[in-house]
Amino acid sequence: MATIHQLPSSVVNKIAAGEVIERPASVVKELMENAVDAGATRIDVTVGQGGLELLRVTDNGCGIEPDQLPLAIASHATSKIQDADDLFHVQTLGFRGEALASIAEISRLVLRSRTANSAAGAELEVVGGEQQPVGPCGCAGGTTVEVHNLFYNTPVRRKFLRSTQTEMGHVAEAFTRIALANPSVHCTLRHNGREVYDLPPVEDWLPRLGCFFGHELARDLIWVESRDGDVVLDGYAANPSHSRASARLQYVFLNGRSIRDRALQHALSEAYRGLLLTGRYPIAFLRIAMPADMVDVNVHPTKLEVRFQEAGRLYSQLLGTLRTKFLSTDLTARLTPSVEHEAAAAHNPARAEQLREELVRWAKGQLPAFDAPVHRASQQGQAVALDFRTETSTPLELVPLRRSWQPVSSFEPEDDELAADSLPEPESSLAGAASPVAALQVHNRYLVTSSEEGVIVIDQHALHERILYEQLRARVLGGALESQNLLVPEPVSLSPAETAAALDARDVLAQLGIQVEPFGRDTVLVSSYPAMLAGLSPAELLKDVVDRLLGGGKTPDRRDLLDELLHMISCKAAIKAGDRLTAEEISALLAQRHLAQDTHHCPHGRPTALVFTREELDRQFKRT
Ligand code: ADP
Ligand code: MG
Repeated sequence: MATIHQLPSSVVNKIAAGEVIERPASVVKELMENAVDAGATRIDVTVGQGGLELLRVTDNGCGIEPDQLPLAIASHATSKIQDADDLFHVQTLGFRGEALASIAEISRLVLRSRTANSAAGAELEVVGGEQQPVGPCGCAGGTTVEVHNLFYNTPVRRKFLRSTQTEMGHVAEAFTRIALANPSVHCTLRHNGREVYDLPPVEDWLPRLGCFFGHELARDLIWVESRDGDVVLDGYAANPSHSRASARLQYVFLNGRSIRDRALQHALSEAYRGLLLTGRYPIAFLRIAMPADMVDVNVHPTKLEVRFQEAGRLYSQLLGTLRTKFLSTDLTARLTPSVEHEAAAAHNPARAEQLREELVRWAKGQLPAFDAPVHRASQQGQAVALDFRTETSTPLELVPLRRSWQPVSSFEPEDDELAADSLPEPESSLAGAASPVAALQVHNRYLVTSSEEGVIVIDQHALHERILYEQLRARVLGGALESQNLLVPEPVSLSPAETAAALDARDVLAQLGIQVEPFGRDTVLVSSYPAMLAGLSPAELLKDVVDRLLGGGKTPDRRDLLDELLHMISCKAAIKAGDRLTAEEISALLAQRHLAQDTHHCPHGRPTALVFTREELDRQFKRT
């Protein structure tokens, strides 16, 4: 029988480190949070080699007394709470007293600090948990924590780390969250000697959001605010003309802490229902302030998740706040200039409801055009929404559909064959004799046709998506995907994390015909592009691909990644439910149906077609 024994503190600390310090970005989060808790008005973050070589966080906060330095790096030692009761009134970001101890266990950590009332600073060095004696040092008021060679003594953890660029992307994301939660703090970030961000303190949130996410987006953010009892909600939600392929641009700050909350994400999606295409996620930056005892922050080691006492009420507050705001003049005026002059009537509930309906109708009207080839035209200008609006009245051109077929001769039906091929002879005369109809389009989403077997109902989007997917995959695997060099490479501005992800996935993207190159700080150049996707904007496509890359969390293997991107691209490029098709387009689609390898299911696993057999119909009509 094994004996039970107390683990040495170094093992305890390594276990804690495993929970709290996953990668260099976790260190940045913990150290910046300590600086905020110390009342700093300036925080400087310096990173070497994605944080593997060096992470340094300097603040001008309250500092630590020399005799307290050893305690600061001891485990379960904190100045922030006294007893268990305090756990339910936490006012600071930290309270577990584990971060410095954990970091010191798995790196060489140097802690320098000086309080306002001491003449000189003191320094403490810890190597792999082994403390050196505290000594004097010269330093400004505040604290500097330097972390060298993170994970040097935990090779397994180190092995899980990704490229410098990816790790730096995560560091930048951690930095972003703290800097967004604390706009009045001057924050800077440097990597390998280069300045990444220098954010002066601001009173208003908007300029800081603009620094991180671009001023174009900042211009289209809508201010929202509400109060429900002691709970105050404020922040910005993006105009529905902006959206992303994942929930990554949904930032929620609870009492100054960045959190993830599924229910609140759901409330956001609900609020935008009808305004965004399915599969698109709203963009929002929201702050919630509530008394500390209304929320439990001690449910997750890094406190990313919290538990609300009145989760349902908060959900309703968020949803209600956004809905009410979306009914108001700004959004409506922006989306539908025709009703602009009536904006003043928006406070009238009946008129408001009417406006909402118009808005939804307008939004729906935009949907077919979103992925249609008109994108090209709108790339240059800012007024993307306006371009869409002018295009909705013109019939949809099925350019991606046709393009995808032309270059591969073995798949390409002869033009005159196409018509014949696409016409499974209707057995009844319902279709009429005048012009041959391949299938009847109903509800602008289903194609009804017949075969020997019976009646077939086809989901136009699912079928087209499947065809495109099979085509793309065959070509990508055969190395035959044509890509088209852009005459002028298109610069796409991304966040540092996104830039890193895009550059990291360069070879997979190249396989898909998308060539990206680094270009300045937070910009990548798209220099070539899959020819069959000529109808889509390279910038939009790249942003969606990057969202997918970052959204997964785990590192997918290369094949999964490729497959997922193929699904995404075929879904984007395919005609949509709601697109009205011309007879030629229907014929072309049905002709291609026989050529795809497995057209019964779209790549998402939904069926592309349902067959009602003749026997079944006869039975239903009581003919047998
Ligand atoms: P926690 O933040 O949960 O208390 P840490 O291990 O992060 O635990 O820090 C331990 C203690 O060290 C803190 O409670 C605080 O008293 C002190 N400390 C850490 N960083 C700083 C800093 N930048 N400025 C002032 N004091 C700090
Ligand atoms: Mg802390």
